[in-house]
Formats: sequence, structure tokens, C-alpha cells
Amino acid sequence: MPPAYSSKTHISYSPNKVVLGVDSAARTAVEVRQLGGSRVLLVTDPGVIQAGLTRTVEASFQTEGIPYVLYDQVEPEPPSRIIDQGARIFKSEDCDLVVGIGGGSSLDVAKGISILAANAGCILDYIGMDLVSKKGAPMILLPTTAGTGSEVTRVLVMTDEQQNTKNVVFTPFALADTAIIDPRLTLSMPPLVTADTGMDALVHAVETYVSMNATEFSDVWAEKAIALIGRYLPVAWAKGSNLEARYYMSLGAALAGMAFTSGGLGAVHALAYPLGTEYHMTHGRTNAIMLPHVMRYNLSGSPEKYAVIAALLGQEIEGLSPMEAASLAVEAVLELQASIDVSCRMRDYDIPETDLSRLTEGAMRQSRLFIPNPRDLTENNVLAIYQEAF
Ligand code: NAD
Repeated sequence: MPPAYSSKTHISYSPNKVVLGVDSAARTAVEVRQLGGSRVLLVTDPGVIQAGLTRTVEASFQTEGIPYVLYDQVEPEPPSRIIDQGARIFKSEDCDLVVGIGGGSSLDVAKGISILAANAGCILDYIGMDLVSKKGAPMILLPTTAGTGSEVTRVLVMTDEQQNTKNVVFTPFALADTAIIDPRLTLSMPPLVTADTGMDALVHAVETYVSMNATEFSDVWAEKAIALIGRYLPVAWAKGSNLEARYYMSLGAALAGMAFTSGGLGAVHALAYPLGTEYHMTHGRTNAIMLPHVMRYNLSGSPEKYAVIAALLGQEIEGLSPMEAASLAVEAVLELQASIDVSCRMRDYDIPETDLSRLTEGAMRQSRLFIPNPRDLTENNVLAIYQEAF
């Protein structure tokens, strides 16, 4: 039986408006007008420009006669200075609305710029929970990856280059006024980006589903996301131009984002963050590496829910005990990863075994994420998980 939920309070966060549909990016200028924008800062990165993904949005601005300034300096796992610089340009160019288009990096930079348009200082001043006091500039977000779910979350993530850490701002003011999810924008993702970002979305859904903060509300989003991602990630990876697979991956990633921004994450993220900052690996890949190992460790904390995950990922669980069924969830994730050429062995990424203690110290600095995790962790447990992952 699932845990009793009656004592839990569910709090949901979501954008004011979500537009999901093939070719919906062409509506961007109309949405700008509806939000009262008259001069746009268009935020993205050079890879997104190179893939031609801003063209539809720029054409819509031209058709509607909306002036815009392009800020295409976003870097992956964006350093905070990229946000601060974008905010200065937003002000000096007299913009009044932000449009972010790209992966989570571009969307998070757009969020930071929106916030700094109305709040003093630099973005690192707002690291933490609910420290932003005013709503920022109106904001429209268009994802070009199916992964982070940033388009629907109240979170923005950046790198503090001085401290060499990933930092998170949690605020309802990081929610888009309008999220435009156009699966066509994701067709050009190469297989590696499809795999990494798709695994990121799966981790969001799985971690939220087994989280101590999960509610029936977040379960609905998480279950649907797990089923969609399990079914369509291999297809999207194998055939990038498959619009049906891209559509359901875009939907799955957004549902996983809705789930985690209203539920919560766990130990996968805590153990993945140090891999990202130490070895500059993508957020999605580091999450993918840690997922099966943390799941195996966690099974006894939530066997019924892991059993459901196994079934959602296509495993036959009838007649099995909860623990037998739960362990099939790990097998299902390993099969999925094998089908998209993702290894979960740290040694395959040239990570030296001698670094495991240092990584453990890094993970312990993220121990706030252990609180909602379904099984408690000590420093020794973390080291043991890294050793298994190695
Ligand atoms: P990304 O934005 O860093 O993009 C990765 C690469 O893919 C870039 O080179 C980009 O140019 C390219 N790319 C993006 N879309 C493409 C497309 N359609 N075709 C071809 N190339 C394309 O990757 P991401 O995984 O989407 O975002 C990662 C960032 O998001 C990290 O900083 C992570 O911490 C953060 N994140 C944020 C949230 C949130 O809720 N705000 C959640 C999870 C992760």
C-alpha cells in the first residue's frame, strides 16, 4: 500500500499559461503582445542559434512589428556572471519583456534576467528559498530540449565560479508567465543531447515519485512522465526527426518538471552535482550515472512505489513480492540506458577512484536533498554508492 497522504499539504507551482503544440513557437509575438511587452530581450546560446531554432520566433516578432535585442551569450551550466551581464543589457536596451529559448541553461538565464529587472544586486544574492521579493519582468520560455522542465519550474540553477558550486534560486517569480512548448524545436537535438536531457527528465519524475514530499497531486504528473519517457526516449534517440516521439518527450519532461517543482528531488541530485562541478559533465549525464545506483540503495525505503515504476517502465511485476518487483525498476532503468548508449559506470568517464572521498564531501554539502530521500544516508553510505557506481 502507498503511504498515507492525508497529513500532507500539497503546494503546486506552475506557469500562468502553458501552450503545448507542434509549431506553437510561431505564436510567440502574439503572447508578447498579450503580456504587454513592447521591446524584447531574446535570450539563448550559440548552439541554439546555429541550429536555426530562433528563426520562427524572430519571424513572429518581425510580422508583429515587435523590436527585440538578441542576447546569445549563454554558456552551459551557466555561470552567474552571464545572468548579471544579461540583466545589465536588459536595462541599458530599455527592454520590458524576456523571451528565453533553448535548453535549461538558456531558460534559467532568462529567469535570472527577469528577476534582476525588478530586484537589486546580482543573482547570487538570491540563492536559496524565497529570497526574491518582487515579480520580475514578464517572461516567456520556449524549451528546445526535453529534459530540465525549466519552462514550468520555479527554480533557476547557476554555477558560482568562485566557489565551484551549482546554486539554486527557488522562487515563484522564476515561473514563466507563458511557457510555449513546441516539440518541433527539439527535433535537431543530436542523440547525445537527447539521451542526457531525457535522462534528466526521468530522474526528476522518479525522484519526485519516491520523495517523502510526494503527494497524490505530484504522483499523477510523475507517473505519466515516467511512462512517456520510458516509452519514447529510445525512439527519439534512435530517430531524432520522429515528431511523435519528440512530442511525448516534450510533454513528459514538462510533466516531470511540474512534479518536481511541486514535490521535490533527492539523493540522485545530491550525488550528481559534484560530478558536474568537478568534471564539467552535463547535468543530465551526471544524473543518469547516479540514478540506478541510488535507486538500488533506496529500494527498501519505498518498495511499493519502485514496483509501480517498474510496471510503468514495462516490467511484468504480477505475482512478485514488493521488493522483487521494486528491484525490476533498477533493471528497467539499466535496460533503458543501454538502449540509448548511456553508461552508469563512473570509470567509463575517466573519473579516478581516488576522487571518491572528495566527491563524497561534495555530496554531503548537498545533504538538504537527503531529507526528502526515501532512505537516510550517512557519509559512509554516500561513499559506498560512489564505490558501487565506480
Ligand atoms: P543546455 O541548455 O545546457 O544545452 C545543452 C546543449 O544543447 C547546448 O550546447 C545547446 O546549444 C544545445 N541544444 C539545445 N537545444 C538544442 C536543439 N534542439 N538542437 C541542437 N542543439 C541544442 O542543456 P539542458 O540539459 O537543457 O540544461 C541544463 C541546465 O539546466 C543545467 O544548468 C541544469 O542545472 C539546469 N536545470 C534547470 C532546471 C530548472 O528547473 N530550472 C532543472 C534541471 C536542470
